[in-house]
Amino acid sequence: MTTVRTDWTRPEIATLFELPFNDLMFQAQTVHRQNFNPNEVQISTLCSIKTGACPEDCKYCPQSARYDTGLEKEKLMKVEAVLDEARAAKANGATRFCMGAAWRSPKKKDMPYVTSMVRGVKELGLEACMTLGMVSEGQAGELAEAGLDYYNHNLDTSPEYYGEVITTRKYGDRLTTLDNVRSAGMKVCSGGIVGMGEEQKDRIGLLHQLATMPSQPESVPINMLVRVEGTPFAMEEDLDPLDFIRTIAVARIIMPLSQVRLSAGREEMSDEMQAMAFLAGANSIFYGEKLLTTANPGANKDMQLFKRLGINPEKLETEQTEEEQADALMASIESAKNDKFFYDAAQ
Ligand code: SF4
Repeated sequence: MTTVRTDWTRPEIATLFELPFNDLMFQAQTVHRQNFNPNEVQISTLCSIKTGACPEDCKYCPQSARYDTGLEKEKLMKVEAVLDEARAAKANGATRFCMGAAWRSPKKKDMPYVTSMVRGVKELGLEACMTLGMVSEGQAGELAEAGLDYYNHNLDTSPEYYGEVITTRKYGDRLTTLDNVRSAGMKVCSGGIVGMGEEQKDRIGLLHQLATMPSQPESVPINMLVRVEGTPFAMEEDLDPLDFIRTIAVARIIMPLSQVRLSAGREEMSDEMQAMAFLAGANSIFYGEKLLTTANPGANKDMQLFKRLGINPEKLETEQTEEEQADALMASIESAKNDKFFYDAAQ
């Protein structure tokens, strides 16, 4: 039985980062095998329910109204339109439907719409996940009451480097939102972004924050910066892919029961790099027709890679046979066009 430690220290995490690469990978894969099927990856579908025109200044994000990235803005989608997307996702084999809105935080007038979306998605028998920016205790309670399973709110980076990335909200604000989500009884999805000019000590600081929460997040997205033209981070230097893989491996070791999600930046990764990320313990990805802002690898390319690696999508809890599920998933993936990318969401 795996013991989850929430008392990790920064020096201990730094020691893991400093391990010889092969030793680190071996340890990560060992922990992974103790807790998960090593040849299974969970797949979620994403829907951007409100795109762009965000008042925040996150320097990596094309959805910020402050940067000219050519992104087409879209108002909050109608509830029925979101549910149509959810029905299609279900028909295509998805088990979890994630809805993201580019907001600083939802307004009072938005809450009836988003809670109706949650109720509708739950009635379809899907798990529901949302990312709407900062939420108060009351809003978290409303979402939980509507049946929301997961709430995503990323920490992005270490507390020390945070000011280089965002100035319009504080690290403490993020922690408060995560506390509100947890207190309301929802599962937490929280991670960060690698490649924003931060140093290894910042990756250590980020993982330390996540791993030492009283309850570790159930889902930990690790994004690789997508350098979108028009954003302040467009000219960031190339990230050493091995530094990214190390971050995944350390996350897997110190958060042994969390799903580590390979998120933004996958389209810039080679098949070999993605394979190495799965070996390091990543066991969740997104695919979908309606993701946010930049290209995701074509979904059928994902399935080809899965096939080459002998990886199966996590089993779906439906009345469909496994064969039907596989066919449905393949059909969905084949039909995924105009993939865009969601920062999963780097809110
Ligand atoms: S990451 Fe989220 S909060 Fe920040 S600018 Fe983008 S949409 Fe807004």
